[in-house]
Amino acid sequence: MSGGWAGSNRRAELPPDWYTRIRPLVLARDEHRCRWREAGAVCGRHANQVDHIGDRHDHRPENLQALCADHHAVKSSREGTAARWRETTRRPPERHPGLI
Ligand SMILES: [Zn+2]
Repeated sequence: MSGGWAGSNRRAELPPDWYTRIRPLVLARDEHRCRWREAGAVCGRHANQVDHIGDRHDHRPENLQALCADHHAVKSSREGTAARWRETTRRPPERHPGLI
C-alpha cells in the first residue's frame, strides 16, 4: 500500500482493492458509460464514478454500476434527501372515524 488518499474517513468502508481492482473492473464492464436510467432511457455519457446500486457494503460487481459525475451527484443527494425525509416526515392528522 502506498496510497496518498488513506486519510479520508469517507472511504473507510471501501475494500482495499476498490481503486486497484473493483472500480476499474466495473467501469470496464460498463464500458465507461453511465448506466443511469431515467424514464426508460439510459444516460450513456462518459462514466468516471462507480455507484452501489443497493447495499453500500455489498461490493460485488452485480451490485455496482458506472455513473457519470452528474448522476452520481444526483443519486447521492437523493439518498441524503430521502434520509432527511424519513426523519422529518409527519403523517397528516387523521380524522377521527367517529366524527361525521
Ligand atoms: Zn449519467
